[in-house]
Amino acid sequence: LLLLLLGLKSPATHYQVISSHPHEVEELKPFVSTVHQDGRLWIVSLSPDAPEKVRSFLRPLQGGEKSYLFTTDRKGLVTYADIQRRLMGLSLQNIKADVEFLSAFRTRRVGTDENRAAITALEARLRQLGYGVSQTCFQSGACSLLAERKGSELAEEVLLVMAHMDSVGQSFAGADDNASGTAVVLEMARVLESYPNRRTLRFFITNGEESGLLGAKHYVRELRREERLGEIKLAINMDMVGYNKDNNIVELETGKGHEELARWMAELTAQYTTLRSKVTIGAWGSDHVPFLEAGVPAILTIENWSTKTPCYHLACDKPETLNYVYATEIAKLNTAAVLTKDRE
Ligand SMILES: [Zn+2]
Repeated sequence: LLLLLLGLKSPATHYQVISSHPHEVEELKPFVSTVHQDGRLWIVSLSPDAPEKVRSFLRPLQGGEKSYLFTTDRKGLVTYADIQRRLMGLSLQNIKADVEFLSAFRTRRVGTDENRAAITALEARLRQLGYGVSQTCFQSGACSLLAERKGSELAEEVLLVMAHMDSVGQSFAGADDNASGTAVVLEMARVLESYPNRRTLRFFITNGEESGLLGAKHYVRELRREERLGEIKLAINMDMVGYNKDNNIVELETGKGHEELARWMAELTAQYTTLRSKVTIGAWGSDHVPFLEAGVPAILTIENWSTKTPCYHLACDKPETLNYVYATEIAKLNTAAVLTKDRE
């Protein structure tokens, strides 16, 4: 009721904050007051004297934005033994080793030699696993990777799993953001390597996310141009899946119209992991956004934003700060999602 009254009083002054870069948040703070804040969802009202720049960190409420902790009785849930068996194959040690490997680059900022070297190494890894690998480049020397294995029955339907491999920049280590998501993509690709997929599996290692979702936007444009957007039946994004101290909450973030997808993922979280899930409707700030804007069912799995790493976009975002048990649980969730979708 309070929200409604506020809404009636000044309908145009409520916004969702769609930036979390620490310096932008500092710029924003003097001009907003918080109406609601929970995990990834932060709704504010804006003072009329806010400068134009600050408005670019906000978007007007579209209606339907919300976040809630999903609760369900685990006793009533059915799990499948073959899916459980595959999940048992996911290795915490492998995820940790890949986070360490990717964090050892001086930087992974797009456009740097180190970023290109990391792409080359990731490409070799995916090829070794037996996938068909290609690059999709949005600038010279700035490329994302696609690794794919065609499905045996429904090859025209694609299940896509993505994470960005670039980091913010010089001396920003980028272990949680986002060596963690990239390492989980690699581990999923390894575990699914021997899985007889009915639908096409596609792993998308994106680049230039930190510079404006460049790789993901470029790929979505490419799919649109080739009239292939409809082939993607599910797109899962992982961005910062490595930091959690003690609440074991994973956030499941998607857009309006995809609440059913979020609910389905929340149920899988309860079925196959030890995590609790928080659903957020109101997507922003990572590579799932261009997919959602193009009408593709897409969802972000991300660490609980209320308790995110204190090293976010800082030089201290190092491998030793991560919780690899937590990252492995998120790997289980997303692998279970792919396997469950593939048996539909
Ligand atoms: Zn990120």
